[in-house]
Amino acid sequence: MINIQQFKALQKKTSDSFYLQKKSIKNILLGKNVYCQQCHKILQVKFTKDATIAHVYCAKGCTDIELELD
Ligand SMILES: [Zn+2]
Repeated sequence: MINIQQFKALQKKTSDSFYLQKKSIKNILLGKNVYCQQCHKILQVKFTKDATIAHVYCAKGCTDIELELD
């Protein structure tokens, strides 16, 4: 179990936006629709050939995230 001190430390280390991005990507990978926070278009995901990097983007390009997968 995580205690509140650890949780606070984790929050400090991890920026809100990065946390949100990870959460969004997780939802996309689960097949849920996630929308760009800026243009509200649906986010799409593409994987590199070896599936180590997920590329998440929207049609307009205001969201363009590359994330290494574990
Ligand atoms: Zn967008």
